[in-house]
Amino acid sequence: MDHPVILVTGASRGLGRGIATHLASLGYSVAINYAGNLTAAEETQAACRSMALHDSQQFMTVQADVGSSADRERMIQQVLAHFGRIDALVNNAGIAPRVRADLTGTSEASFDEVMKVNLYGPYFLTQGVVNYWLEQKPTPLLESGFKVIIVSSISATTASINRGEYCISKAGLAMVTKLWAVRLAAEGISVMELRPGIMETDMTSGVKEKYDTLIGGGLVPQGRWGQPRDVAKGVESILAGHFPFSTGDVVYIDGGFNISRL
Ligand code: NAP
Repeated sequence: MDHPVILVTGASRGLGRGIATHLASLGYSVAINYAGNLTAAEETQAACRSMALHDSQQFMTVQADVGSSADRERMIQQVLAHFGRIDALVNNAGIAPRVRADLTGTSEASFDEVMKVNLYGPYFLTQGVVNYWLEQKPTPLLESGFKVIIVSSISATTASINRGEYCISKAGLAMVTKLWAVRLAAEGISVMELRPGIMETDMTSGVKEKYDTLIGGGLVPQGRWGQPRDVAKGVESILAGHFPFSTGDVVYIDGGFNISRL
């Protein structure tokens, strides 16, 4: 049996792991990208195997820094060599600045590092996968066609003055989504942005108490942390074709955080 193959970046931990394991439970094959944590990637792979619907689904781990041009190209080739195809790309990998510095002290090194991973990475990885689709013209195994999903953040529109470079990278992703959506619409390929809010992962472990207090105080209307599964359900809906007349759109996964209130 042929299973659609989904490449999920940053799938060794956090939201990406939640996406990968959920997709496994739905019958997809998954390429699990990671940057450096092979042990965590193998844990995701084992979890995918144990949750898989069919023995014939396949799960591979693939190391690549999405901020590196050479790594992106190698990753696409490795995934194609292993599975023979890619049906959807979930651009999830992302980093926070190593130091939360006020705007007056943002270093150019941090700005460069965050842009490379969070903005160049998804833009050019999408370009690489799209060129494979357009040049090789494979037949999609997803009923509603090939898909690109971009995981941005509420930081695309919420200003945090202690991590400006992160906010700018996520605001840029909103335009990356729209650009690719317009370019690919006539090709039958849709591109969607998932915009998570405050999610419980390693990325936020250092600020857990602060956010516990803010959530307790009503910052998030639904009154809880977001979980990897919340994002995974969004990915499920898009891959299943539940947004047939949408592309370039944003789906918030933030418990209502983004609503202006009085
Ligand atoms: P996380 O727990 O820190 O996990 C990050 C994942 O990305 C890991 O799998 C990591 O691989 C991988 N990664 C990091 N740098 C990479 C690179 N250069 N190339 C390839 N993979 C890389 O983060 P998360 O909270 O799951 O965040 C996932 C995405 O959601 C990010 O884009 C983040 O900006 C976004 N987001 C997060 C939140 C939140 O509150 N947590 C909110 C909104 C949006 P290794 O294990 O190998 O290091």
